Amino acid sequence: MQKKRLLGPWRRSFQWFASLLILLLPWGHIGEVSLLRIDVPNLSLQLFGATLRIEELYLLLFFSLAMVLFFLLTTLVFGRIWCGWTCPQTTLSDISEWVALKLNLKISDFRLQGALWRKILLHLFFILVAVLVGSNMLWYFIEPQQYFAQIVSGQLHPVALGTLLIVAAAVYADLAFLRRLICRDFCPYGRFQTVLVDTATFTLQRPASEAPRCIECGACVRACPMEIDIRQGYQIECINCGRCLDACRKIMGKRQQPGLIGYHFGTSGEGPRAVINPRTILLTIGATGLLGLFVLSVQMRPEASLKIALSHQVGSRVTDGNQISFFNAWINNRSTEEAEYQLRAQNQQNGQSLTIKGPTSNIVLESGQNRKVDLVLVTPFDGKKSTIVFSLIDHAGRTMAETEALITPGQSR
Ligand code: SF4
Ligand code: SF4
Repeated sequence: MQKKRLLGPWRRSFQWFASLLILLLPWGHIGEVSLLRIDVPNLSLQLFGATLRIEELYLLLFFSLAMVLFFLLTTLVFGRIWCGWTCPQTTLSDISEWVALKLNLKISDFRLQGALWRKILLHLFFILVAVLVGSNMLWYFIEPQQYFAQIVSGQLHPVALGTLLIVAAAVYADLAFLRRLICRDFCPYGRFQTVLVDTATFTLQRPASEAPRCIECGACVRACPMEIDIRQGYQIECINCGRCLDACRKIMGKRQQPGLIGYHFGTSGEGPRAVINPRTILLTIGATGLLGLFVLSVQMRPEASLKIALSHQVGSRVTDGNQISFFNAWINNRSTEEAEYQLRAQNQQNGQSLTIKGPTSNIVLESGQNRKVDLVLVTPFDGKKSTIVFSLIDHAGRTMAETEALITPGQSR
């Protein structure tokens, strides 16, 4: 008998991999920095070991644009393969339908049919999945360990609790009532395909040349979660899942014949060469270039930053031949480890070290932490303008960041 090469096991393995990745990503760290977390209290984004403060989020523009271009490229080359193989919505629908079948519930015209008690069991399962999805989303904002501690102690912030309830309710409604209807009728990405899929795209087809071999068993149609008849040609609702291909291979395998449905690049039989065209080449160059720019920009950032501004609350004054100026400093540790710093000040014109008072030494900052330090600068009053250089020094004596401030007689700015 001819060996049947089925796509189902590959697709399910990939869905497991993608789902576990989404579930486990918030648990992973590089040094002390999460692989992916929006740190609301510190107004920063943790991304694969780098911490981007809110003022550096412009760097994300490169990253976001690169992701958009990669997404366009993937769709242009592989059609709706994202929908069928990776999208969490499809995975959740697949799991729901699998559990429904195990509970002897029938799905017809996107509706569940079967005994009430079986439906109740299924809805309890949906609630569990919905709470897990809602919690998983919050782990991208709150460390999972902290999240569970806050849940157990009843100290989860009301905003987080509200978000959890809203997301869980939306996921429950999706699993219980919508499932594939989202993919078919509502998903904007699905609509997007009409623009992107072109004559070179990798799609599932039953070529016209195979039609005479078709025994019209309808197995391909029954297997399709989107209720498409692939025999009518490519349809935009197709999510490239490959179920019809497997169904046909199984049926034809019994007749010791190869399946009729296959993946095809392009409509004119050019094969994989069809995808090498100006659109895909330009998108590849644009996406990799932007991603490279993002990685380079993040790598080349200094490990710490220092900002200095004159205090708006206390004015400068002259006392005993010294000018006393009040400053606010903001220090940010961008490295992946805890670091200890001290602040120093120097007159740029004559190189003289200046006295600064306040908590300006032994400043210990966790990775990604930002801290405001109030300090007082004492400069000999000579009636001239002076440029002051503030330096951030780490525990090894290295200058991590420098910034300048100008002070004028009797006042600073
Ligand atoms: S036509 Fe085939 S590949 Fe497309 S959605 Fe239906 S079963 Fe999946
Ligand atoms: S499963 Fe294959 S043989 Fe059966 S109807 Fe579909 S294309 Fe024809």
